[in-house]
Amino acid sequence: MQELSELQNEITSCVRCPRLINHCRDVAIIKRRMYMDWVYWGKPVPSFGDPEAQILLLGLAPAAHGANRTGRMFTGDRSGDWVYKTLYKYGYARHGYSNSRCDGQKLHNVYITGAIHCAPPFNKPTPEELSNCSSYLIRELQLLKKLKVIIALGGIAFRTYLSLFSRLNLQPLSPKPQFGHNLKYQLGAGNWLIASYHPSQQNTQTGRLTEEMFGQVFQTAESLLL
Ligand code: SF4
Repeated sequence: MQELSELQNEITSCVRCPRLINHCRDVAIIKRRMYMDWVYWGKPVPSFGDPEAQILLLGLAPAAHGANRTGRMFTGDRSGDWVYKTLYKYGYARHGYSNSRCDGQKLHNVYITGAIHCAPPFNKPTPEELSNCSSYLIRELQLLKKLKVIIALGGIAFRTYLSLFSRLNLQPLSPKPQFGHNLKYQLGAGNWLIASYHPSQQNTQTGRLTEEMFGQVFQTAESLLL
């Protein structure tokens, strides 16, 4: 627990990706009109959740005016509204909302992290930035001793996890798992990877991802914990 907490401190002071660090700071200075009275976080966002978690929620990156503003993963944007509402529904969150770091939210059996911890311009990190941040994810995977299920939100998170898994296990996956909503893959003894469409507005507003579909991912996760 101590090591995990120290790792989060290391992440928040990281400056490995100058383009992203500058972008996070710029967004924090310019702000969005509706958040003018906020003091933006404006730096790498730490992971959030239960150190004893069996489920890891792996997102892509903090949103510029969401987690980059509030300083907590999936907090303060529409994607986060979906995530916390669903986590609450399935008993993993104290509240069905997440507005700020001071809202009393607490997670049980779930830990949330990202493929990268800084908000990228246009939500598009470069391969080099993803690679820079991957060492943090590797260390989290090693420190979260009770993990059984990884839920990858979106194709980039899915491929990031697969690539790390191959590297850590020193072997390519064959056949290679394909991304598709609510598809599950057993990777190693007792560990599972579930793919999910990302709860971005692009997916939720077009009906590509419905609340029911998102809930099914957590039902799958629950069935794998039994
Ligand atoms: S994306 Fe990760 S590696 Fe890059 S600056 Fe942010 S925390 Fe550091």
